[in-house]
Amino acid sequence: MSAERDSAVGEQVSDGGRKTAKKAAPAKKAAPAKKAAPAKKAAPAKKAAPAKKAAAKKAAPMKKAAAKKPAAKKSAAAAKAPAAKKAPAKKAAAKKAPAKSSAAVKKAPAPKKQVVAPKKATVSVPAAPAKTVAAHPQGESRTALVRRARRINRELAEVYPYAHPELDFENPFQLVVATVLSAQTTDLRVNQTTPALFAKYPTPEDLAAANPEEVEEILRPTGFFRAKTKSVIGLSKALVEQFGGEVPDRLEDLVKLPGVGRKTAFVVLGNAFGRPGITVDTHFQRLVRRWKWTDETDPDKIEAAVGALFPKSEWTDLSHHVIWHGRRICHARKPACGACPITHLCPSYGEGETDPEKAKKLLKYEKAGQPGQRLKPPQAYLDAGGKPAPPLGAG
Ligand code: SF4
Repeated sequence: MSAERDSAVGEQVSDGGRKTAKKAAPAKKAAPAKKAAPAKKAAPAKKAAPAKKAAAKKAAPMKKAAAKKPAAKKSAAAAKAPAAKKAPAKKAAAKKAPAKSSAAVKKAPAPKKQVVAPKKATVSVPAAPAKTVAAHPQGESRTALVRRARRINRELAEVYPYAHPELDFENPFQLVVATVLSAQTTDLRVNQTTPALFAKYPTPEDLAAANPEEVEEILRPTGFFRAKTKSVIGLSKALVEQFGGEVPDRLEDLVKLPGVGRKTAFVVLGNAFGRPGITVDTHFQRLVRRWKWTDETDPDKIEAAVGALFPKSEWTDLSHHVIWHGRRICHARKPACGACPITHLCPSYGEGETDPEKAKKLLKYEKAGQPGQRLKPPQAYLDAGGKPAPPLGAG
């Protein structure tokens, strides 16, 4: 059985894996005010409808950004860029026919329209979009970026109040092994595989002394099972020989273990030892670039750049929120923008499906009423209506 690729949190195995992060299209510039001819009066596009107080409040940072764009401020026609884009070279015509000025605005791509959906604190699918706002972080100040980034994290915390590591584990040893196994496959497949592994080899000593062929057979469903067998046996031997059979709780020790890089180390530190860590997996890389938190592409630099936007105490939960959103809504190929609850804070709205009904069909796991990835999820997840994943071969 071949393993699916989910860009899980484990380190990449030797083939380097596939990069799923897709660079977000650069935000468009609004046209300078002087280029815009008098336009028809229309309701300002940037304003959120007053009906939803909370949502209107959320739109504030992006409204501020939009306000810096004269064209967007002055004219709804400019905000509705497609019409304005039509006649970039028709200045003369614009002078002669001011009444049709919106068509004569020189190439005036305006901030993208944003659709704001109400926040949800349960597993249910976000409701239909409520209002339209403009988002444009270009020229965003450092302070505005920090505020927007933290607001995204706060709002995602309300969308995924039950967010947790999606690998089943009962102790640090199980977590470090599961994280190594999660490279190039889904957490679900790892969770379906590890019960047999840990039943047969419950301690580092047991796994260190295992027959590799028997371990390979157990790990076959995770893909790259020979390399992974070598890693987990080597890892177990290192734990026995260098750390007395205990998983160390320091980054510098963890990264010395075979198959353990910073990403895996931070998963273990954050979730088994309660030490703050940012997990820069492929979902994290993709989303922070879509949100324009950083332009870095190197995981270590992303970790540093994003870490600087948040208090250290929030790093672990932030990682869960971002990864959960990437797995459920903001997918690599088809982000479900029309069902996304943070559109008003996202400069990449529109990169995916914006039709609410079509977007809803793209949702995954509990957001689609389907089982999650853990066979033994935390109670909070079950309480919120989440379903446990089925064991291997059961579904
Ligand atoms: S789903 Fe769309 S709107 Fe939501 S975060 Fe991703 S790109 Fe932005």
